Amino acid sequence: MRAFKRFDIVAGISTSLLLFALLATYFYSHAQKENTLSTERQLNRHAQSVIAIKTDLLSIRELEKEYLLRPQAQHAEQLSAQLSSTISNTISGEIYSSQISRADVLNSLQTYQGAVSDTVRLVSDLGLDHNSGLQGKFRRAAHTAEALFDELQDDFLQAELMYLRRHEKDFILRLDAAYRTQFINRMGALRSAVFERPISAQQKQRLLSHLNTYEQSFILWTEHRMRLVAVTEMSDATFTNLTRYFDRITSTLLAKAQALETQRRKAVITSEVSLLLAGLMGTAFCLMLLRLVFQQRRLANEITALAQHDTLTGLSNRRGFAVQLEADLRLRTTGPDTLILGLVDLDGFKSVNDVYGHGAGDLLLRKAARRMQQILPKGTFLARLGGDEFGLITHFDANENEIRALGHSICAALKQPFFLKEGVARISGSIGFTVARADDVDMSALVERADYALNYSKEHSMGEPVLFSNHHERAIEHARELERIMINAHFEDELDIMFQPIVNPVSGAILGMESLARWNSTMAGTVPPSDFIHLAEKLGKINEITQVVLKKTLHVAREWPSDIFISVNLSAMDVASDEAANRLIKTVHASGVPPQRLVFELTETMLMQEFDRTNAILDRFRALGIGIALDDFGTGYSSLSYLQHMKIDRLKIDRAFIADIDTNATSQQVLDGIIQLCANLNIDCIVEGVETESQRKIITQSGAMLAQGYYFARPVPNSELQALLSKKNAA
Ligand code: C2E
Ligand code: CA
Ligand code: CA
Repeated sequence: MRAFKRFDIVAGISTSLLLFALLATYFYSHAQKENTLSTERQLNRHAQSVIAIKTDLLSIRELEKEYLLRPQAQHAEQLSAQLSSTISNTISGEIYSSQISRADVLNSLQTYQGAVSDTVRLVSDLGLDHNSGLQGKFRRAAHTAEALFDELQDDFLQAELMYLRRHEKDFILRLDAAYRTQFINRMGALRSAVFERPISAQQKQRLLSHLNTYEQSFILWTEHRMRLVAVTEMSDATFTNLTRYFDRITSTLLAKAQALETQRRKAVITSEVSLLLAGLMGTAFCLMLLRLVFQQRRLANEITALAQHDTLTGLSNRRGFAVQLEADLRLRTTGPDTLILGLVDLDGFKSVNDVYGHGAGDLLLRKAARRMQQILPKGTFLARLGGDEFGLITHFDANENEIRALGHSICAALKQPFFLKEGVARISGSIGFTVARADDVDMSALVERADYALNYSKEHSMGEPVLFSNHHERAIEHARELERIMINAHFEDELDIMFQPIVNPVSGAILGMESLARWNSTMAGTVPPSDFIHLAEKLGKINEITQVVLKKTLHVAREWPSDIFISVNLSAMDVASDEAANRLIKTVHASGVPPQRLVFELTETMLMQEFDRTNAILDRFRALGIGIALDDFGTGYSSLSYLQHMKIDRLKIDRAFIADIDTNATSQQVLDGIIQLCANLNIDCIVEGVETESQRKIITQSGAMLAQGYYFARPVPNSELQALLSKKNAA
């Protein structure tokens, strides 16, 4: 019993011990498991905090760059908001170890914040965000100096100034103090050059005083600019520091995670830690990706800016202009505001390009843009819409006279000679304006009106600004009305044909007849060809008109003496497709008039399009014996090259050359030259627009064999033609 008891006690103790051991082991391993799990959770939290803060840092950098690129208050606000939130995240984040204290990171962040607010202050001191600041002052001084030198027309001084501006640009581009020194030295040289030039003391005084303003504002601006560089360098340094801290935190976390994993492998617990490890490893990858994403976004921003930017003049381009106009129109609806839209087109720019080359043309465009910028009211948005076309948006409460006055001053500025390396260029400008109305909500109507005014200026008043008016509105309405009428017109009934003889200017004998269309509309009255031909081309009605004219002409021509040729005007669309050509050929055949008696007149503007196809169609006409005449010769740009490339049988010298022939010796020489050229090329030459006896005399002296004009006969209906034919031929 005692032994049993002892055994019992031993067994009890042993069992208890075993139980205890088991329990202890159980609890120990459970605690271990719990412990690992909580370490794991903590690590996870830390990793997440680190990722969040690192992402924040990258955003800060992006915002900072964005702000420096486009220094606007809105970007500065975003930047400081992001900074504050990052600072509060670092305070609440549980990520610090004995190696990296929260104080270190906060300290760095605050230094960074200081640098950023210095930047913001400097940017606003520099006036980078508006034109009235230091930058604006400096730019204006440079432009005024340039304008003064332009005025002086002194090549040497202009070249000196150009060097100066190059140093200035070099500095802006590279922010290197060396260029600043070069600028200052060069300015000294320019000053002494001004002293030595043979110009009046007063002019010298004026130039020197502007050069002083230019230099001083340059020095001030560059000084600030260098300070800005210093500040941004400082923020660069702190940023690098901060990233280093967080990189260190990341590696500590990684080491911990690895230790945990080793422990786990021994204890064979859950594999969550490998997820954590992957997460931490992924952090580096994510950050890399993030960086890429940000870079991409910045690039996209820059591309957008570029896409709205005209690299040649530094102005906005057409797209930027549209964006601005839309925005301004939208803003206008929230309050009363005058919005004036102007379109400017340079006249004579093409010749500058042709004569002096594209480099000179580019420089002229830059100079023209600058001249306009100088005289436009403050806050005007100027853009280059493409080629030699500019657009401006301005908001000033101006009456019509003031708008016209603005236009006049732009025109006057453009008329000033441009001094280019290649020579002196002179151009002018046409301008159309329109004022936005209360109901203008989208820009298309506005642009359409300004465009109409611009075209009006081009066609009717070279160099005179035109403001879209009620009168133009009515003209547009009239044109629309005419359009509606034309769409329903029945040309077979409504077209009358007039005939104008083409004669021998010496004998007066009638050699040919040109048919000229007249539209007697039942709805619109008598419409001159200058109005309806163009409209018919626009509405696609011209083929029908040509058909009717050709058919009616050939119908009456059968009655004429068989040695008289018949000239009919064609339009571009008549030679644009085989179908149109087929219809004409069919009409010719059906008429029974020998095709050899027929001449088709074409103007060079129509030949410009689709050169090869047009030539192929003309060949088909020619194969039938139909002659081809080049009408209005000399009014286009490259009349001579057409003679070279197209097989032309005759040429009609435009009446512009004849109008002043008895007073203008040059016109006479041009006429002589063309007649000689035709003789050499063995083609006929018809002189158009002869109105007086003295003109007749001069052209016969030049050797003209064919002529046309009111002096010989006005266009007449067929009924009067018979009399004319018998009279002239009898004489
Ligand atoms: P165009 O082919 O150059 O025709 C000559 C124009 O000059 C005619 O004007 C004629 O009346 C006018 N003219 C003739 N001699 C003199 C003169 O001595 N002094 C002045 N100041 N003018 C003179 P019209 O009939 O008004 O025609 C204008 C233009 O319309 C024509 O210029 C031609 O391009 C076009 N056109 C006329 N009929 C047709 C047609 O049936 N088809 C096509 N496609 N165009 C036509
Ligand atoms: Ca003609
Ligand atoms: Ca003509």
